[in-house]
Amino acid sequence: MKKIALLPGDGIGPEITKEAVLLMEEVGAVIGETFQFQEGAIGGGAVDRYSTPLPEETIRLCQHSDAILMGAVGGPKWDRLPGHLRPETGLLGIRKVLNVFANLRPVHLFPSLSSSSPLKEERVKGLDLMIVRELTGGIYFGQPKERRTVEGKEVAVDTLTYTEDEIERILHVAFKLARKRKKEVLSVDKANVLESSRLWREKAEQVALAYPDVTLTHMLVDSAAMQLVLKPNTFDVIVTENMFGDILSDLGGALAGSLGMLPSASLSENGPSLYEPVHGSAPDIAGKGIANPVAMFLTVSMMMELSFGFTEVSRWINQAVEEALDEGYRTKDLTVGDEKWVGTEEMGRVIREKFRTLAKGERNG
Ligand code: NAD
Repeated sequence: MKKIALLPGDGIGPEITKEAVLLMEEVGAVIGETFQFQEGAIGGGAVDRYSTPLPEETIRLCQHSDAILMGAVGGPKWDRLPGHLRPETGLLGIRKVLNVFANLRPVHLFPSLSSSSPLKEERVKGLDLMIVRELTGGIYFGQPKERRTVEGKEVAVDTLTYTEDEIERILHVAFKLARKRKKEVLSVDKANVLESSRLWREKAEQVALAYPDVTLTHMLVDSAAMQLVLKPNTFDVIVTENMFGDILSDLGGALAGSLGMLPSASLSENGPSLYEPVHGSAPDIAGKGIANPVAMFLTVSMMMELSFGFTEVSRWINQAVEEALDEGYRTKDLTVGDEKWVGTEEMGRVIREKFRTLAKGERNG
């Protein structure tokens, strides 16, 4: 039995989480596994009910689960609250409590969606990269982080710190992933200017010695940003520190056609991992039944592979999504011009049906 904590959150979070649960029930039925679901409050809904965006009970639930699936948090209703009550504080809090240091964001453009990308089709054809972002170190967490007054003028300070251990552990994640892909790691830094990047580059060279079958190259972050727009389909595994990863992953995400297509996984060293779609709570479409459930389905696919080792389940889910798209099924966010579209539930139903057919076909065949 696998215990899964569900944190649906706000906006479209509950709608897409419901679809994900139906998919996991389907997975369980096909492979003979039981998934036990328990729901926890997080974000704005938790503020309304418990006066905190991350109740203790939710933390305990997550710590005692095998994996955590989150929808999204936030919305205009809670935008004016002070920092400690903001829904996003709950999200940062749970990442910190679980110590999920490795954020994996695959960016894959399904062939039938190449006209939905903002770039020309020939540029994005075959786009399939993986951004490995360090999530718990760097300038977002370094101390001191403060305002000072120096000679009567206000000064703001943020600190970019990395220890060699923090750098090495994220690099190992990237190299191991590369072994399952094209055996190429691109380490992105700013070693021409930053001392932390020079340490990063040295450690990357050292860690690479343990993976002689994987090729390591380096790129400065400014150049990487440019190349991601010019030649996105030449990238494979990109590993980088927290802030560079934050920026590059949104850039990469924009190439995939819609935010509603992008999954993510945040892994810890030995505790449960946290899975969530990249997009937010989309308050503009919440409750309308038109949210795209695909990012959530691909997020479930990552959970099946990375937390449970169900590699074939993951492959079937990805293939089911691809078949549905190839047959022309689109949610509204994926349409170009006056293309026809289906709602969240219908898209979910079609993909689950394809999953069932694929899984049963392979298991019986
Ligand atoms: P958003 O990702 O919620 O929405 C951006 C645009 O993409 C909107 O037009 C939305 O309708 C569309 N979109 C997003 N996901 C979609 C899906 N699955 N199907 C169809 N369309 C989809 O970003 P935003 O509007 O900047 O933020 C809204 C709220 O979400 C804010 O409160 C923000 O702080 C929060 N947020 C939360 C997370 C998270 O929980 N991980 C991430 C980003 C933003």
